[in-house]
Amino acid sequence: MDKQEEFALRTVEERDVRFIRLWFTDVLGTLKSVAIAPTELEVAFEEGLGFDGSAIEGMTRVSEDDMIVKPDPSTFQILPWRGGPQGTARIFCDVLTPDGEPSSGDPRHVLKRALAKAKEKGFIFYTHPEIEFYLFENQDDWSQVPTPIDEGGYFDHVPRSPGMDFRRACVNMLEQMGISVEYSHHEAGPGQNEIDLRYADALTTSDNIMTFRTVVKEISLERGIYASFMPKPFTDKPGSGMHTHLSLFEGDTNAFYEVGQEFNMSQTARQFAAGILAHAAEICAVTDQYVNSYKRLWGGAEAPSYVCWGHNNRSALLRIPQYKPGKGNSARMEFRGLDPGANPYLAYSVLLAAGLDGIEQKMTLGEPTSDDVWELTDAERQAMGIEPLPDSLDAALKVMEKSDFVAQVLGEQTFEYFLRNKHREWAGYSRQVTPYELAYYLPKL
Ligand code: GLU
Ligand code: MG
Ligand code: MG
Repeated sequence: MDKQEEFALRTVEERDVRFIRLWFTDVLGTLKSVAIAPTELEVAFEEGLGFDGSAIEGMTRVSEDDMIVKPDPSTFQILPWRGGPQGTARIFCDVLTPDGEPSSGDPRHVLKRALAKAKEKGFIFYTHPEIEFYLFENQDDWSQVPTPIDEGGYFDHVPRSPGMDFRRACVNMLEQMGISVEYSHHEAGPGQNEIDLRYADALTTSDNIMTFRTVVKEISLERGIYASFMPKPFTDKPGSGMHTHLSLFEGDTNAFYEVGQEFNMSQTARQFAAGILAHAAEICAVTDQYVNSYKRLWGGAEAPSYVCWGHNNRSALLRIPQYKPGKGNSARMEFRGLDPGANPYLAYSVLLAAGLDGIEQKMTLGEPTSDDVWELTDAERQAMGIEPLPDSLDAALKVMEKSDFVAQVLGEQTFEYFLRNKHREWAGYSRQVTPYELAYYLPKL
């Protein structure tokens, strides 16, 4: 038994933990959980726990429905909202087939495979997400426009809003679970907030995002308000993104930084950025997986709609702050396309693989754009070689389904399942007659 397993077992005993929840996610990034008794934990470490995989989105083909979850002892944590005696702990799990092989429908495995490829080239991939979300009053009927809990704006200090207390409760709870928070603030929309998790390797960050979503939901439940990660809840107010800062390290050295190069940006950084831009359209369905995601991308308010990069340009898909001498280790690039509805494991897999492909193929990075790209005309953008992102889930799926690159990164099973599920989502949506159409057409026609 390894040290981490021993530590988990000892803690369960000493802290009188009553339930251990085994956590994993389906292809869409929904958190799945099965609780076991403390006496089962040792066996779970050794052999895993069987479950019916065919009931989980994207997990299995029908023929191999007995799957196994195997806890990763490094992720053992007591859940603070179920602390105290007779409390509850959680452990993230890998999903295995009955033969003990990693399941190709397990998003955590997809990311592990992408990270292993980076490691072969000597790179560790770090990510730092800025997670935005709205806080609403509770309501019974969610088909009605929601009411934000305050009228604050960007960085506003709103003393009477429950939002401030809410953020403090989240940060405290996350830190109790070993997740460091860098910043938290009111975002631009009313009732909109942002919490930024400290950078960590992408597998840890993905686990942390799953925990974060749960913590935010738990605290909102406790306080009688409703937290939502929906990318664009209001037509005329900012959407919620999950901008992520990306960096590659070789040992202790930031591989994006090189003194003396233009902007102190290494060749590796330029090629990585070029790879992300080259693959941006085909990975878009993964980074922005819902019908509603495209309302955010094309709804203005600092969400990116065009494939380009810039230094301090918030209309660009990829923002690369100028690297300052002496601050090499903070060299990174901010991918602004992602939204908080994404499956973080899959989204970070495709971003990493896109960047690595740029390095492998020695792609060249074009000029940065300093203009507000929304203000340019189509002709101007075309002359500058700036392409639009897909403008709907349907458009994004049409690019993705032709992509050997995405198929190879996700693996055939996840790729096919994802496309099937998302085509179904689009079909369900596109046949709806919406309140907008009624209000627009009935008075005229
Ligand atoms: N809410 C914006 C988005 O949807 C981002 C605002 C910001 O720059 O933080 O991407
Ligand atoms: Mg923000
Ligand atoms: Mg940002």
